[in-house]
Amino acid sequence: MTRLGVDYGGTQTKLLLADDDGSSIRTHTVDTGDLSDLAHAVRDFVGTDDVAAFGVTVAGTLDPTTGVVGTSANLPWLDGTAPAADLSRRLGIPGVAVHDGEAAALAEARRGAGQGIDDVFVLALGTGIAGAHVLGGTPRRGAHGAAGEIGHVRVTDADYSCSCGGRGCLETVIGGSQLGVRWRERGGAGGTARDVVAAVASGDEAAIAVLSEAQDGLARALLEVVALVDPSRIVIGGGVARSAEVIVDPAVRRARERATFHILPDVVPAALGVWAGAHGAALACVAR
Ligand SMILES: [Zn+2]
Repeated sequence: MTRLGVDYGGTQTKLLLADDDGSSIRTHTVDTGDLSDLAHAVRDFVGTDDVAAFGVTVAGTLDPTTGVVGTSANLPWLDGTAPAADLSRRLGIPGVAVHDGEAAALAEARRGAGQGIDDVFVLALGTGIAGAHVLGGTPRRGAHGAAGEIGHVRVTDADYSCSCGGRGCLETVIGGSQLGVRWRERGGAGGTARDVVAAVASGDEAAIAVLSEAQDGLARALLEVVALVDPSRIVIGGGVARSAEVIVDPAVRRARERATFHILPDVVPAALGVWAGAHGAALACVAR
């Protein structure tokens, strides 16, 4: 039976039809609109194919039991609604909503860089930091749907304030926009993670210090993951990880140097890129 994965992003929405084993049949990208626009786009995309179920990602907080969105910063019309139930009524197909980070982790674990491994920790380094421990092909959500929040493990004594209300979290030293903030504090030009990396290449000492702090923070976080979960493989993706050779690889080396009882597993780059969310949404509707 054909399944549909919908990655409902802030600016673009990715649609993916998958067969029973999750292999992609075809894909399409549309500009993001409200749920009525999305239902039209899905009907055009699906055509006469017989779709058994769909999964739709939610970029925001989601009650996994009721499928109701708490808040979605980029798609505010979803706040307080149940998008899967709404789409289901419009399309006449059963569906589930899944947190976007969980969908990407599920896809990487089952069909991407974690394929064939039973016990994978997936880390996404973007503007925010998302983590998920996928065990036997199922992401562990935790008792309150808040497992895997590795972005909010404290990794530095520096008094950097974090979006979570805490201080010195991993996100404050390696989150995409936070890298720019840290650089500006040291007299740099600010900007994005890419700008910081470019400045490092030209020998900018403030940028080098920012990057070193990011590597150090990630090394500490990796050791925390290993201490708590002891996974067979760690998969790292997200925009910041595109600069793997200057951020991720040195961090992994530092973690290996500092390990005491920890056994660092393979640490590998994510494989599915921007389609991970849509793949994961299609898989999620099979999993539940
Ligand atoms: Zn935090």
